[in-house]
Amino acid sequence: MRPQSRTGRAQPPWRLSARTLVTCSISTIIGFSAICASVMIDLRRGEEVRARQSLENLAAGIGADISRNIELYDLSLRAVAGNMLLPEIKEVSKPVRHLILFDRASTARNFGAIQVFDAKGRLAIDSTTLDPSPEDRSDADFFQVHRDRPDGGLYVGRPAQHRGHASIVLSRRISTPDGHFAGVVAGSIRLSYFRDLFGRLTLGPGDSLTVFRRDGTVIVSAPFDPTAIGRNLARAPAVTRALTEPTGWASSYGALDDLPRLLVWRNGTEPLVVVASKTWDSVYAVWRSEAAQIGAMMLALIVFVLAATQVAAREIQLRTKVESRLEQLATTDPLTGLKNRRKFDETIESEWRRAQRTQAPLGLLMIDADHFKSYNDTHGHQAGDQVLVGIAVCISDSVRRAGDCAARYGGEEFAVLLPESSDTAALHVAETIRGKVAIWAGETSNTSISIGVASVTPPRDTDWSSLLSAADKALYAAKAAGRNRCVSVAVPKPSAAAALAA
Ligand code: GH3
Ligand code: MG
Ligand code: MG
Repeated sequence: MRPQSRTGRAQPPWRLSARTLVTCSISTIIGFSAICASVMIDLRRGEEVRARQSLENLAAGIGADISRNIELYDLSLRAVAGNMLLPEIKEVSKPVRHLILFDRASTARNFGAIQVFDAKGRLAIDSTTLDPSPEDRSDADFFQVHRDRPDGGLYVGRPAQHRGHASIVLSRRISTPDGHFAGVVAGSIRLSYFRDLFGRLTLGPGDSLTVFRRDGTVIVSAPFDPTAIGRNLARAPAVTRALTEPTGWASSYGALDDLPRLLVWRNGTEPLVVVASKTWDSVYAVWRSEAAQIGAMMLALIVFVLAATQVAAREIQLRTKVESRLEQLATTDPLTGLKNRRKFDETIESEWRRAQRTQAPLGLLMIDADHFKSYNDTHGHQAGDQVLVGIAVCISDSVRRAGDCAARYGGEEFAVLLPESSDTAALHVAETIRGKVAIWAGETSNTSISIGVASVTPPRDTDWSSLLSAADKALYAAKAAGRNRCVSVAVPKPSAAAALAA
């Protein structure tokens, strides 16, 4: 049984339309794609965070090792600078002076000799020999810096060849108690120290480490690049930030290889700054392959869903077409092409209720072919059928509004339902139909029709039988009055109808 609406009318069961199916599928695809994209974006962000953390740890570890070694070496330089001012130091023998001034730091691997220069830049003492050859370093930058700046502290020189080794010179000023310049103590750290340090690390492809002097000069980089040593990169925006901000990260093109990179730095109070970096390619390498796999799976799924949707939509369309054709066949009179009695009954039921709601008049015409039996008898049943078809054409030509319903009521009888039509309007339509039939029949069959007309604004709690019987009565009246005419009768009020029935 079909479900009933609140108005009591049968409602068609809900059916999935092709359009709804396609809309649902596309919405689902869009929804899943959005979820997938958001997960992929989250994973990408996660890769960035992980890469930043690992670079931070790398820069921190390397920075700490370098700082510790420089600090140790600096302690030795400070000790020499302090001890040089002892008055006794001039009186002791050279071997004893060496024992007082230099600890074992000066002999450590990768650390160069510690030398003391007098106020004129001449080599006075050398940790590696008791009788050093004459050497004048008055033109060296470390000497000039300490001579001109009493508060220079530990000075780190640019990388340069020092006694046959690529090194950086670390130096301190020797000042007399009253602050006068008394010379410089200088030592060196070989770049091989950094290479050994970096050699203990396993750098991934695209990873790099660069140690900068505070002025942006590259001391050393890993992977080792001899052409980079001594280059000043202070003008590269990311390096500028690394030299001025304590810690941070930047996305920039590598100053040495021009590849898009993630750079992370640790920049404390130490004289050297460590910048660790990864190419963005390597940061996203794993994510990219995962994204490609998931993307490919999603794409395959989308193609499958679309293909399945297309097949299902086509099936639904076909089924809908067949159903609507069946529906049409089930509601159409095969001879005349008008609606059949079943459809008419459904329509009058629904229009009656609508008219009750809107309180608009509902008109009804009952049309009957005059003397049709004798026409059949004279011209044959087939000719009679043609007349019925002709009458149907005249009716549908005259009934053109969307809500109007013209039906074959049975045999040679037709019914026309005219929503929102008063007596007068319904009578007008009836006369139009009769006129058309008269013209058409005058040329062909010489038949005529009689029409009974009724219209009513349906009172509440009544059914449409009163309208039908009024139109029937009008039809009889038309027949009785001589046929080939339209007669309208009023529909009795419910109380009157009840009295009549009693
Ligand atoms: P009246 O003017 O009083 O209506 O006379 P009538 O002869 O038209 O009325 P009656 O009810 O006596 O006859 C109706 C005839 O209509 C009987 C039947 O042969 C004919 N008829 C009914 N259905 C069809 C049909 O589908 N095709 C044909 N050709 N004739 C039909
Ligand atoms: Mg009849
Ligand atoms: Mg008849």
